[in-house]
Amino acid sequence: MTISADFWRQLSAKLQPEQLLRDPANCLSYSYDNGRHQAQPSGVVLAETVEQVQHTLRCCHDYQVPVTARGRGTGTPGGATPVPGGLILSLERLTNIRDFNPANRSLRIEAGVLNQTVQDLAATKNLFWPPDPSSAAYCTIGGNIATNGGGPRAVKYGTTRDNVLAIRAVTGTGALIETGFTTAKASCGFDLGRLLIGSEGTLAIIVEATLKLSPLQPSIATLQVWFDSENQAAHLVAELLQSPVIPCAVEFMDSACLDLLRRHRSLAIPTHANALLMIEIDGLTETLPEAVALINALCRQGGSLSIDSALTTAARASLWLIRKTLSPTLRLAAAYKINEDVVVPINQLPALLKYLKNLATRYAFTMVNFGHLGSGNLHVNVLLNHLDATIQLRVNQYLAELFQGVLALGGCLSGEHGIGIDKQPYVAQAICAQTLTLMKAVKAQFDPRHILNPGKFFP
Ligand SMILES: Cc1cc2nc3c(=O)[nH]c(=O)nc-3n(C[C@H](O)[C@H](O)[C@H](O)COP(=O)(O)OP(=O)(O)OC[C@H]3O[C@@H](n4cnc5c(N)ncnc54)[C@H](O)[C@@H]3O)c2cc1C
Repeated sequence: MTISADFWRQLSAKLQPEQLLRDPANCLSYSYDNGRHQAQPSGVVLAETVEQVQHTLRCCHDYQVPVTARGRGTGTPGGATPVPGGLILSLERLTNIRDFNPANRSLRIEAGVLNQTVQDLAATKNLFWPPDPSSAAYCTIGGNIATNGGGPRAVKYGTTRDNVLAIRAVTGTGALIETGFTTAKASCGFDLGRLLIGSEGTLAIIVEATLKLSPLQPSIATLQVWFDSENQAAHLVAELLQSPVIPCAVEFMDSACLDLLRRHRSLAIPTHANALLMIEIDGLTETLPEAVALINALCRQGGSLSIDSALTTAARASLWLIRKTLSPTLRLAAAYKINEDVVVPINQLPALLKYLKNLATRYAFTMVNFGHLGSGNLHVNVLLNHLDATIQLRVNQYLAELFQGVLALGGCLSGEHGIGIDKQPYVAQAICAQTLTLMKAVKAQFDPRHILNPGKFFP
């Protein structure tokens, strides 16, 4: 696409020269994210103020230039990949902390602040923000909001959608809107904030958010629970979530993960183990032993092979080592990884695992599954040493079957990563035509010229 010289003149009028990258070499690192897609943008705006975000979007609106918001590009389904020749609007320099209010358990910050910065600041007052992606040290709050990010703690504390009080955002016409209230409860009009959460930069650019913080519990216990069958582990999750003690993490690794680790690392994995649940319980120091005993008993009744538990930070870290080692090991094991993050209702987890085994056998793929089982959210990975056009065709057939199976179980295409480019072809199967028509009409109100992240989400 060709962008007129007038557009660049107008755009640069309110930016410092170093805030607008035009040199293709400088733009290159903004041409891809953590997904598999790449497209060269013709410019990158490094906005430093809300007014500059508004100005950029007004220019894009006037000249109908496609614009893709970018936090730190850690997203996986290609959501922050630009339209070829379009503009990238980076929020990475919007990093002001506006108001930290421990009494209200709220934190107002700009969109480019990193998740880890929020956690570190909140911890100074014994608070935390529940969404805790493994990428916390690198991803922005704007990105977390745009994808409705989660992580292990979602099982007890919810995802981003449950932990944001208010949002300031700029629509596709450059208008600044404010949604939500910073009170503990509110009943006043449409909840547009919840609409923006998970909208992947297609409705508005988030510039500021007021986050709802939670109190840090004084003590945490970690349980490493081994099973000889994945089915037992999957069945146990529903039992755990009905108990009076809701764990703050229930993470899972299947037999293929354990085999991979046995082959590549020397870790203490019981010989007969075919599945692992890492369970965390947080609470008061005085009551934690009772809570741990209850979860222990449920695990034993559920058929666990053995249970290791830890209370101190060092001992807990040593139990988590196995989970932390998995991702680097996947990289050692195969040149290509096709990674999806499907989610199903908790009672359908055993059926999902069975369905995945069947798919792996039929396609003769090496498949490793792990993830946030307590939220019904599984990271399904196909490992390949070679990827050519013929294999890609088989991968596409496999993906179609994967998503079809997940939807048939009452699940959703993504639990936390979003739709981006990758899952766009399957959206029409997940959302009915009437609902999609309404969503498009909503989008037209926010972004009448369809400049915001075109080519993402909508089929
Ligand atoms: C090692 C690793 C581990 C991960 N673990 C997890 C995990 O446990 N849980 C999880 O949920 N995710 C995880 N992710 C995925 C990713 O980190 C999250 O999706 C994160 O929220 C993206 O943040 P970001 O700043 O990198 O956004 P980007 O990748 O830059 O953007 C993601 C999407 O949000 C849009 N966007 C970004 N900022 C804004 C904004 N200010 N306004 C409007 N739209 C915007 C983009 O256009 C794009 O569509 C992981 C990624 C990696 C690499």
